[in-house]
Amino acid sequence: MNPNSVFFRASPGGTPGARATSDERVESPVEMGARLEFLARAGELLSASLDWRTVLQQLAELVVPALADWCAVDVLSDDGHVERVAAAHREREKVSLIHELSRLQPPDLVSPGSLSEVLRTGRPVVMEVVTEDTLPLLVRRAEQVDVMRRLGIHSGVVMPLQGRGRVLGAVSLVRGEEGASITASDLELVRELTRRASLSMDNALLYAEAREAQARTERLQAVTAALSRAATAKEVADVLMNEGLRATGACRGAVAEMNDEGRLHVLGSFGHSEDAARAFEGRRTGHFPVLRQAMERREAQWFSSLEDFLSVAGLPRYMLETQGLGARAILPLMTERGMRGFVALTWSVARVFPVVERRFLEALVYQGAQALERAALYGTLRERGERLHSALQVGKEAEERLFFLLEASRALAEHLDDVEWTLEHVSRVAASSVASLCLVELAGPDGALRCVAASHQDSGRNALVLSALEHEGTLPLSRECYETGEPRYLPDVGVSLRGELAMNPGHRTLLEMLGPGTLLVVPVRTRGRTLGVITLGTSAPQRPLAMADVSMMEELARRVAVALENASLYRAAQAAVRLRDEFLSVASHELKTPLTSLKLQHGLIERVLGPDSREKVAPRLATAVRQVQRLTTLVDHLLDVSRVSLGRMALEPTELDLGQAVRDAVERMEEVFTLAGCKVQLHLPGPLLGRWDALRLDQVLVNLLTNAAKYGAGRPVQVEAAGALEGMVRLSVRDEGIGISEEDLPRLFGRFERAVSDRHYGGLGLGLYISRQIVEAMGGRIEVESRQGLGSIFTVHLPRGTDVAR
Ligand code: ADP
Repeated sequence: MNPNSVFFRASPGGTPGARATSDERVESPVEMGARLEFLARAGELLSASLDWRTVLQQLAELVVPALADWCAVDVLSDDGHVERVAAAHREREKVSLIHELSRLQPPDLVSPGSLSEVLRTGRPVVMEVVTEDTLPLLVRRAEQVDVMRRLGIHSGVVMPLQGRGRVLGAVSLVRGEEGASITASDLELVRELTRRASLSMDNALLYAEAREAQARTERLQAVTAALSRAATAKEVADVLMNEGLRATGACRGAVAEMNDEGRLHVLGSFGHSEDAARAFEGRRTGHFPVLRQAMERREAQWFSSLEDFLSVAGLPRYMLETQGLGARAILPLMTERGMRGFVALTWSVARVFPVVERRFLEALVYQGAQALERAALYGTLRERGERLHSALQVGKEAEERLFFLLEASRALAEHLDDVEWTLEHVSRVAASSVASLCLVELAGPDGALRCVAASHQDSGRNALVLSALEHEGTLPLSRECYETGEPRYLPDVGVSLRGELAMNPGHRTLLEMLGPGTLLVVPVRTRGRTLGVITLGTSAPQRPLAMADVSMMEELARRVAVALENASLYRAAQAAVRLRDEFLSVASHELKTPLTSLKLQHGLIERVLGPDSREKVAPRLATAVRQVQRLTTLVDHLLDVSRVSLGRMALEPTELDLGQAVRDAVERMEEVFTLAGCKVQLHLPGPLLGRWDALRLDQVLVNLLTNAAKYGAGRPVQVEAAGALEGMVRLSVRDEGIGISEEDLPRLFGRFERAVSDRHYGGLGLGLYISRQIVEAMGGRIEVESRQGLGSIFTVHLPRGTDVAR
């Protein structure tokens, strides 16, 4: 199609001023054909694009110069805004004047004039003749009249662009030449053209809307995805603003959370100054009528302009003006479970909010509210998790303290005789469980503290710590604790405090090397006296010491004090026992000399007695000899006890026959058994050879036989010896006397242990003790079976102590 063709124009001969619709001229068939062809090609061009701006520009270029000298196309947007989107002029250089017209006075819906009327009503307006007089009525400003004159205006028509029942815009066609009025057929053609353009434009709009809807859906999906990753309220606000709200074209926005008391907390904002955002911080929602309204109505509040907003904002105009003169929206962040806060948006210009945009923003904010709810839930879960973790930690620490205290107490109780080892052990356990470092320092007689145990988690440092303390002296903190008797607890030892804790460069180096984060020194006190101090230190990653550790260490220090005291008592007792054994040893040696001499004297007396005097003296002499013998036995026992205690009992094994040894002993003790009224029966097989110390073996036999006579109640005594398996021999002495109660049995072989009263039976309670020491020294064992009132059997098991044993 040739856009320059002018053959549709009505002939200049038409009646000026006549209404276009009254044009009576009959169209020729050629003209009609050309029109139809024009329409067909126009329709084709107009439907070729899905961009409505292109469609409208095509329209303008189609009508100029075919139907008009110049043309302007204006579009009405949803918010009532009018925009000139296309223009064409027969003289191309004048196109800019058409835009200049709209710039000088932007077209709108309310000003007087044909364009506003068409946009408002959707009905075409025909300007049949425009004269110099009527021209100022069409435009409002003097400059526009000038521009109009330069463009040329004689007659014109403004045709609405319509689609789906609404006005989309208007096409203004103007003819500049006098007499070129618009005929009815022109009008029909223009109507048809604009109808087709409207259709194309509406299609393009539908297409654009569909694309926008698609873009919104995609944005919503992106926001949903980003929100699902947001774990805190702040992150939710950031996602809402950056992924959603900024894209709405709003110039300012804010996301605020509301706490249980209804106070606001601004989570994030854009376009607002920090001060402006801060002004809302902590304010009550009820303070702002617009927020109250949003809460009461439980829905978004939309305000097309500042004027609309002012009525409910509850804030002065001057304040709101600084935020912009345009539209506002207040969207409650709300889920089924309740209100969580608000989103506030401000636009720089007034506007209406199309339904699709409202739905989009509402959906966006709903997603945000749900994410906030999730974030709050995460927060609670996180907090609970942390509480649980710290409870477990507390439990673990308590267990650690308990374990340490138990282990330390066990060592303190078990090793009375080796306090040094015990303290080292305790410090080792401390440094590997509750602390990184443990020092035990005890006061010497001069009151100086001496480090007796030092342990570090890194055991390579123990020697270093010990030698540093030895050379540089104790740390002032430990000294202070020792002198005051009060614990010293430093929960947070920083670098500067570390400097203060050192008394000399050596200490400083030591403290720097150990780098303790917490330090604790407790006094070891007993009965008002401080015996020393225990120091604990921790350095990361070891947990710092807490108040519970102070109590634990005070308890440990008490136990250490008791252990130290017990150890010193124990040492004193041991010394006393040793002294006694030494005394017994010396005393029994001293006693033996006069006894030996007494025995010799008895022998001499016996020999020099004449028959007469023998008759008179013999019984008394015999008694004296017996008593000396008894005394000798007692002294021997005492001597043996001291030998055993001092570890001086030596054995001299020789080859001998146990049967013979038994016969000899029984024979020597014949008188004893006679006096006791007991018959002795021997059960001895052939010879029972072995290597034993003859004197000691005899001592055991005599002890057992003496007891059988003493406690045998005058009843028979059986003595039996026999060989046993694996190179052993067995000897038993059985009596039918008073017997021994079950509870006394286990202690009979102890030193000075007796199971009878001193009044009825004399004795030191040493015979069985010494017998057991001898038997065990020979590698054997001794045991007893007894029933009270029925008698006892003492059995000795001995190894023969020789390879030729049979
Ligand atoms: P002692 O006879 O001097 O008291 P022992 O060490 O020989 O000392 O014996 C310890 C205790 O064992 C005796 O006091 C007595 O109570 C008990 N005892 C020893 N042998 C017999 C026995 N054959 N029958 C009953 N009690 C006995």
